[in-house]
Amino acid sequence: MKNQYDVAVIGGGPAGYTAALYAARAGLDVLVLEMLSPGGQMATTPQVDNYPGVGLGADGYTLGESMQQNAEHFGAETAFAEVTALDLRADPKIVTTSDGPVAAGAVILAMGASPRKLGLPGEESHIGRGVSYCATCDGMFYKGKTVAVLGGGNTAAADALVLAKLCEKVYLVHRRDTLRADASYLAPLKAAENIEYVWNAQVTGLEAGDSVTGVQYTDKVSGAAHTLPVDGVFVAIGRAPNTALLEGQLELAPGGYVAAGEDTHTALPGVFAAGDVRTKPLRQIVTAVADGAVAATEAAAWLRSR
Ligand code: NAP
Repeated sequence: MKNQYDVAVIGGGPAGYTAALYAARAGLDVLVLEMLSPGGQMATTPQVDNYPGVGLGADGYTLGESMQQNAEHFGAETAFAEVTALDLRADPKIVTTSDGPVAAGAVILAMGASPRKLGLPGEESHIGRGVSYCATCDGMFYKGKTVAVLGGGNTAAADALVLAKLCEKVYLVHRRDTLRADASYLAPLKAAENIEYVWNAQVTGLEAGDSVTGVQYTDKVSGAAHTLPVDGVFVAIGRAPNTALLEGQLELAPGGYVAAGEDTHTALPGVFAAGDVRTKPLRQIVTAVADGAVAATEAAAWLRSR
């Protein structure tokens, strides 16, 4: 990693690597800062069927690596480092990382989002000991066991299907009596005989010693309290943007997203937001890569105009 770049991209998911690809092809010196592995949230998806052109059943991890290679082929660099602070008003802008500071003419924010937590007592302390936020990553630990998936959207549906193939039994616990998940999930869910639905359930706590042994909930219709005996819970209640670093730097929209329109411009000159971190109606790989291309093109124009 050098100490100065034209563009620093924070986050190596689909938005970040597409921004890097377009910035590099525009002749800019570009650095992608990624904390874990390329691909971001997509890397935890075993099967990506709604990103055109890569074939049905492409796996998200491989797709992430391929996006990284594509950008690096044109000269983008990656540093696997954690960004610990940002000074987005400085000129050049300063990105402080676990490997030291980097100066950049423009910054593209592409930090994505992370699973939301329920906030139950013991939830945080039992992560990895019965609490998980990623069925694809952790499902194998529950092979032949009984688990609960909490939530009713696409992630909950996809997680329940992944787990139904591995586990003896899967409870799908939802706070209402209908799923929010897309219709395409309904037939496979119906066909999975080891998924049992727990409707109108307000989850109130975890039963746990060293590891989780049950999930406690109140039936919202009868008011009765119950405990489901389970070996693990998979929390799948949506995502929150990774914008903690931006506090004090940028005013955030409700929900913590970076306020930016289709042109990806934020309120700060030279700072652009791409992908799930931005206010937008649809957060998918295809919309993230579109944002990345726009952000890099806008960043290049902004740097040229100075
Ligand atoms: P989501 O669509 O926002 O669904 C969140 C679910 O969690 C909802 O059913 C919600 O209940 C429930 N929930 C939220 N807060 C809760 C709480 N405090 N206690 C109990 N339940 C709570 O989130 P998602 O399923 O993670 O999906 C996020 C985005 O990724 C969506 O845009 C989704 O379409 C996309 N995605 C797409 C795919 C795909 O197959 N293409 C796969 C995964 C995700 P209510 O229904 O009552 O609000």
